[in-house]
Amino acid sequence: MTYREYYEEPPKRLTVRRFDVVVAGAGTAGVVAAIAAARQGAKTALIESKGYPGGTVTEGGTALHSFFNLWKPFPGVEKRQVVKGIPQEIVDRLTEIGGCSGHGDQTVRYDYDSACTVVDTELYKLVTFEMLEEAGVFICVNTLLAGAVREGSWVHGAIVESRSGREMFAAKCFVDCTGYGDLSAYAGAEYIERNDYQVCNSIGVANVDVDRYYEFLKENEAVSELAFGLRDGRWALIRLNAPHSKLPQEFAEEARKIGLSLVTTTVHDNYLMFIKVNLKVEGSLTDRDTVSKAELELRRRQRRAIELFRRYIPGFERAFIARTSPSLTIRRARTIVCDYDITHEDVVEARHFDDDVFAYGFHDSAPRYMVGRGETYGVPYRALRVKGIENLLAAGMHITSDHRAHMSTRNTVCCMGQGQAAGTAAALCALRNEGTRDLPYSVLRKALERDGVYFEG
Ligand SMILES: Cc1cc2nc3c(=O)[nH]c(=O)nc-3n(C[C@H](O)[C@H](O)[C@H](O)COP(=O)(O)OP(=O)(O)OC[C@H]3O[C@@H](n4cnc5c(N)ncnc54)[C@H](O)[C@@H]3O)c2cc1C
Repeated sequence: MTYREYYEEPPKRLTVRRFDVVVAGAGTAGVVAAIAAARQGAKTALIESKGYPGGTVTEGGTALHSFFNLWKPFPGVEKRQVVKGIPQEIVDRLTEIGGCSGHGDQTVRYDYDSACTVVDTELYKLVTFEMLEEAGVFICVNTLLAGAVREGSWVHGAIVESRSGREMFAAKCFVDCTGYGDLSAYAGAEYIERNDYQVCNSIGVANVDVDRYYEFLKENEAVSELAFGLRDGRWALIRLNAPHSKLPQEFAEEARKIGLSLVTTTVHDNYLMFIKVNLKVEGSLTDRDTVSKAELELRRRQRRAIELFRRYIPGFERAFIARTSPSLTIRRARTIVCDYDITHEDVVEARHFDDDVFAYGFHDSAPRYMVGRGETYGVPYRALRVKGIENLLAAGMHITSDHRAHMSTRNTVCCMGQGQAAGTAAALCALRNEGTRDLPYSVLRKALERDGVYFEG
């Protein structure tokens, strides 16, 4: 056989399936986007490479930050639920079957998040799957988005690959919820890659005596975060955190080396849902070989983490790793350039816009940076419109370039809010045969309000 440096793939005739809306990525934002689009009456397809919906909510995020404003540190500020709509429906459905803490109460470090909402990650996959089915979404799991067909400034199709073959999903409007911004990048949109976070693969730790662990932390004055909510049907602690410095020295030294974070949550008596091991990767998070090395290193760190707990921390003597994520989780990779880039000042000065699509009040760097004094900012519709493309919206961790602003917009509940707005807008554009910049804001706002979205400002 002769050695060849390149191989020219022969052209291939693909089957085309037609939809009004195609949502790429059934994660935190994508699930909500697809439900929202389908409920508007748009024929909607959802493409997901894994075998289940849910995304990073089910693989990394300890609690859903945050459905509420940060009210507790500011006496006199009213407690307000600022994200409602479909995200709240997911919480209600989960709570009904014992898969959610409800909106719990953060009692220590409440100047970070005043509430604490924790979900059972496995039930989250099922509940969102069922909600998508009920909404009439054409759900394609185990299906990879592999390319995009663009003509001029319009996207015509998403190229998908599954064991059913390679196909094109044509649509009038598209929503990129891949987290990595794959659809936008394939469609030739502008993006940047910052690589300004650590990557992670968290472990679910089973066979833990949660209350013994809590007692141990209390004895060592090491409880730096604490929240209460529904746990296996009764009101109990659901969130704990501890600084390394207050734990046995051998544990702390090794924990630092493997990027171990002790913030954790649970909705079960003998289980801690996420113990994170983090790793800073040099190079691009969209480079396969760089990421492959990181995947192996994280799994080595996971093993060291569980050994450390078993050896040094009371309550963990017989603990074991019950789950890991199928692949490492990212806080961001590509950032897609949109018509508007939410700034740090927008967030901390609690600004609202004339095209707000929902209100949000959480900042992951609180209390250092907070959204005003228990206020909210508005996520504007223009921040979801991918620059230079007429029928492509983006929702999720891949919007917002400023690291400090992104420390707010990347959080789960913000991604969900973006998802509801983007899915609703995409459906309206498709049904009205309009581009995303032609959709009158009043039409979008009315549809969002009708579907339970809350507005401030
Ligand atoms: C370790 C870690 C801890 C975090 N902790 C918290 C926390 O405690 N609280 C909080 O609120 N937030 C937390 N976050 C942030 C938050 O979880 C994420 O930013 C948010 O969930 C991202 O949502 P998303 O919809 O953008 O992406 P995702 O939820 O990741 O969804 C993207 C989906 O697209 C799919 N996909 C990607 N590419 C393709 C493709 N080419 N073809 C088909 N499917 C594709 C993926 O499989 C995935 O299901 C954390 C994040 C990480 C990484």
